[in-house]
Amino acid sequence: MTDEPTYFRKGFGLKDAIQGALTEDYHSALVEELRSRGYVLSIDGVTVRLAKEFGFCYGVDRAVEYAYEARRKFPERKIWLVGEIIHNPHVNAKLSSMGVVIIRRSEEGTFDFGGVTSDDVVILPAFGVTKADFDRLGAVGCVLVDTTCGSVLNVWKRVESYARDGFTALIHGKHFHEETKATASQVTKHPGGRYLVVRDMAEARLVCEFIEHGQGVEHLRERFLKAVSPGFDFERDLAHIGVANQTTMLSGESLAIAAEVRRSLVARYGEADAAERFRSFDTICSATQDRQDAVLRMLEEGIDVAVVIGGYNSSNTNHLAALCAERVPAYHVEDAACIDPLARTIRHKAVGSQDQVVVANWLPASAPVTVGVTAGASTPNVKVGEVIGLIFQTRGIEVTAALAGR
Ligand code: SF4
Repeated sequence: MTDEPTYFRKGFGLKDAIQGALTEDYHSALVEELRSRGYVLSIDGVTVRLAKEFGFCYGVDRAVEYAYEARRKFPERKIWLVGEIIHNPHVNAKLSSMGVVIIRRSEEGTFDFGGVTSDDVVILPAFGVTKADFDRLGAVGCVLVDTTCGSVLNVWKRVESYARDGFTALIHGKHFHEETKATASQVTKHPGGRYLVVRDMAEARLVCEFIEHGQGVEHLRERFLKAVSPGFDFERDLAHIGVANQTTMLSGESLAIAAEVRRSLVARYGEADAAERFRSFDTICSATQDRQDAVLRMLEEGIDVAVVIGGYNSSNTNHLAALCAERVPAYHVEDAACIDPLARTIRHKAVGSQDQVVVANWLPASAPVTVGVTAGASTPNVKVGEVIGLIFQTRGIEVTAALAGR
């Protein structure tokens, strides 16, 4: 036995040592150029307007830095990562190339920690891990490098307080998303803690209907089979509700769901009881909010088409694409490989679908066009820069050469 600490969540003080590698792996000179030009670049009839907040958020910056620091700190040790550090395939692949072994989630949503030994180091991702997984790894005695984002920890505190005070945590989120699984699991810190996850307003309405009229419980049990705590009883467990949300949901929808739940509790139990039966806290993180606000501003400034860059399983990227698609043709691309400038095609994941489609002639051949560009919180600048370069190339413009000639 040694007295070596086994739990770290405040960095190793190696930021200077890894800064060069981070810049090399994720920096984009083209993105910096756009920033210096007020986020707009126009060349020969093509204007790219970049949202003023996009890409890596503070939580992702911290998680990626911390993973690089862990590699530097423990060069001889086997390092594991629980799932993905963030939802970006390039960042995860980069960590793999540094010898970090990713423990993939099974179809059932579980992790197999059978290979982890007490000599190893395990990185916990920015979304956090469930309480059960945290306890299992703690029992192994390995070094834990916890990169869980502070904004996620805030949601955990809120949900834990609901469970402590006898409130069911109603979480606006995706029940299969790592962050929401981890958040929901916080109720297990208190005996009898309960949760229910609703994905959107339509699902929230089903719950609200039941609160108000008490009908259709069989349908609810079936619909929310995977989205409730074990032993959840719709008739017993919807009398006191605390609302929280996955940090990356659409903020307007989260607020509307909270208001709807409150309205239903008041309809059932009366206004006088509302304070005792309903609690709510907006747990959308400021980075998500800033990126959504910036997209709305970009749309208002006027764009003809939007390109949204980020992992297809990235919740916040999907929401940015949905906001754009309400106003202009919007293309959610994972990276620059989705754009073929010679064929003049773009391959993208259509909003609300899991499938990719290829669209030809997505940019007009010669007419002036303004393309709005944004990226999810897990997308590195280097990927944003590559996509912008190919947007210009689709119109035959070599952006680096064009800038050099100015
Ligand atoms: S999106 Fe928000 S909660 Fe998630 S890592 Fe970034 S700052 Fe943290």
